[in-house]
Amino acid sequence: MSYEHIEAPETGSKITLADEETGELNVPDDPIVPILYGDGTGEDVGPAAEEVLSAAAEATGREINWMRVYAGETAREKYDENLPTETVEAIREHRVALKGPLTTPVGSGFRSLNVALRQTLDMYANVRPTYYLDGVSSPVKAPEEMDMVTFRENTEDVYSGIEFEEGTEEVERVREFIEDEMGYDSIHEGPVGIGIKPITEFGTKRLVREAIDYALENDRDSVTLVHKGNIMKFTEGQFRDWGYEVAREEYGENVITEDTLWEERDGEAPEDAVVVNDRIADNMLQQLLTRTDQYDVLAMPNLNGDYLSDAAGAQIGGLGIAPGANFGHGRVLAEPVHGSAPKYAGEDKVNPSAIILSGRIMLEYMGWDDAAELVRDAVEEQIVSGRVTYDLERQREDATKLGTSQFATEVAERIEELA
Ligand code: NAP
Repeated sequence: MSYEHIEAPETGSKITLADEETGELNVPDDPIVPILYGDGTGEDVGPAAEEVLSAAAEATGREINWMRVYAGETAREKYDENLPTETVEAIREHRVALKGPLTTPVGSGFRSLNVALRQTLDMYANVRPTYYLDGVSSPVKAPEEMDMVTFRENTEDVYSGIEFEEGTEEVERVREFIEDEMGYDSIHEGPVGIGIKPITEFGTKRLVREAIDYALENDRDSVTLVHKGNIMKFTEGQFRDWGYEVAREEYGENVITEDTLWEERDGEAPEDAVVVNDRIADNMLQQLLTRTDQYDVLAMPNLNGDYLSDAAGAQIGGLGIAPGANFGHGRVLAEPVHGSAPKYAGEDKVNPSAIILSGRIMLEYMGWDDAAELVRDAVEEQIVSGRVTYDLERQREDATKLGTSQFATEVAERIEELA
C-alpha cells in the first residue's frame, strides 16, 4: 500500500495471520510496527517507548522497524482530519501497533478517537495487566497482592455511540416508541437525553473466550465475570449467563464454573483448572481492596471495565505505570491507560513506563516473551534504583528526578546489561 503522509520504513517485513481460526500470527524477526505517538505528552512518551522496545528487540536478536502513523492533533496538521483512513488501514494491515494517548474534548466536538479506533479496527477486548512493581509507592497496605488482568469489552454497552440528544426530533421519537409502543412510563417529563445499551451474545462470548484463553495460557486460577445483572437483567445479567455458557460448553475439564465446583467437587478445583465465577460490580469494587489476592482475570462489559480497571490501577501506584492493550482477532493495539496530560506536553517530564509496559504486552502478543521479560525487569530495576520521573520521585525521599528521555535511555541501557 502506498501512503500519502506515512513514511514506510526501508527495511522490515509484515506480520501476517498464520491461522484464520485461532488468530495466531506469523511474526518475522524484523517486523514493521506502526506507532502513533498521539497528542500532548504522547510526543514525549512515544519516542521513549521506541527506544526501550527497540533495545529489547535488539538484545534478543531481532529488530523492530517503526512506522509512524498519525491521529488527533498531528493528523489535523497533515491531513486536516482527526483519524485519517490511511492510519486505520496501516494499523489494520500490520496487525500489531503501539499508540500513545489521544485528546478527547468533553461534551462537544468530535467523538473519542480512541473509541473510534478500537471500534473501527474491531479491537474487542481492552486488556490491562495490573501488577505491582517494586519501588512504586501505593495508597494501599499490601499492593504486592494485586496481580490481576482485566478484560473489558470494547465495542458495545453504553459506549456503542447510540445516543439521542435532548431537544431533538430523534429523542422525542425514541421516547414515543418507548412510552407508546413499549408501554414504559418511567421517563420523567420534560427534556431528556437517551442512550442505548446493547450487549450481544457475539460481543460477550468472544470477550469471555479471550479472557479464558488468556487464563489457560498464563496459568491463572480464575476468571470472574463482573456485572450488574441484579439491576440490568437483560443486558448485564445476560452477559453473566452467556459468559457461563462459554465456560460450560466450549472448554473441557480445564474450565469449571464456581457452582459446579461446590456442588460436585466440594470446592476442590482440579489441578491446572480455571474456575469461572461471577461478582456484582459494586461488590467487586470493594473486593479489589479487601480481597485483592483472591482475584486473577476479570471479564466485564465496557462500562464496568472502565471503572474497575482504573480502580485496580490506582492500587498499584497510578497512571504513570499502568499499561494496557486492545486485542482483536489476530491483532493488538497496545496503549497506556493514561491520557494526554496536556499541561505537561513537550516538557520531557512524564513517566514513559506505562507506554513502555504496554509495549511489553505487545511483545508478548508477538510471542517475544524473552524481550517482554527484559522490558519488565529493566523498568522495575530502574524504579528500584530511585532514578525516576517526577510522579514517582515526589513519593519517595531517596529518589532522583529524571526527564522522560533520560529515564528511557537508562532503561534501555539496563536491558543491554540484563540480556
Ligand atoms: P490524563 O491525561 O491521564 O492526566 C491526568 C493526570 O494523571 C496528570 O495530570 C498526571 O497527574 C497523571 N499522569 C497522566 N499521565 C502520566 C504519565 N505518563 N506520567 C505521570 N503522570 C501521569 O487524564 P485527563 O487529564 O483526564 O485527560 C487528558 C486528555 O486525555 C483528555 O482529552 C482525555 O479524553 C484523554 N484521554 C485519552 C486516553 C487514551 O488515549 N487512551 C485515555 C484517557 C484520557 P499529576 O498532574 O497529578 O502528576
